[in-house]
Amino acid sequence: MKIKSAIFECSAPDLGSCPPETFPEVAFIGRSNVGKSSLLNALAGKKGLARVSDIPGYTKLINFFVINRTWRLVDLPGYGFAQVARENKAKFNEAVNDYLLNRPNLAGVFVLIDSQQTPQKIDLEFVHWFGGQSIPLVLVFTKTDKVRPEQVQQNINLFKEHLAEWFEAMPEIFKCSSVTGRGLPELLAVIEAMLESS
Ligand code: GDP
Repeated sequence: MKIKSAIFECSAPDLGSCPPETFPEVAFIGRSNVGKSSLLNALAGKKGLARVSDIPGYTKLINFFVINRTWRLVDLPGYGFAQVARENKAKFNEAVNDYLLNRPNLAGVFVLIDSQQTPQKIDLEFVHWFGGQSIPLVLVFTKTDKVRPEQVQQNINLFKEHLAEWFEAMPEIFKCSSVTGRGLPELLAVIEAMLESS
């Protein structure tokens, strides 16, 4: 699949403010600074898709983009966002949880994980929690151009060891780089498959 058009539709502070459930949706989530905006822009093949996420305030909202006039790419707020006050943090987490658990047109979720780091508690917790749902979950290890391939593989293996304790079937795992373009065609193929089976 190629992304031919990507149009920002709206930002929502909670599930009730999300756009109508007319299109299937594919959501992206990860810790702040994991490389989500870079990846979304690289996937869309043009700069500026996730631009809205850079505007202060928008980082806490759920951002919707209509792709190829047929599906929505959903940019979820980064979990563990450090700069928000405690009440705000609880609020956006609640909105994200609510969206992930109660959005009937959600076709799949991509969790972005920094390949430079050993498994982080918050990533593991998120995958553990969401992995129990019936919606397809894909793990994307980002910034693989920044560390040695053996290091990337070692961090992935450590992550998988944790997952093996919780899941019989491992989620799909991809190694990506927004700088080199590694893994991006594979991600687009997975999105296509998700949309077909949704
Ligand atoms: P976000 O907070 O998750 O949206 O992260 P950004 O996309 O803003 O990226 C955070 C930082 O990591 C920026 O300085 C990016 O230039 C850098 N970055 C993101 N993806 C990659 C990548 O694939 N390779 C490298 N080398 N740097 C990246």
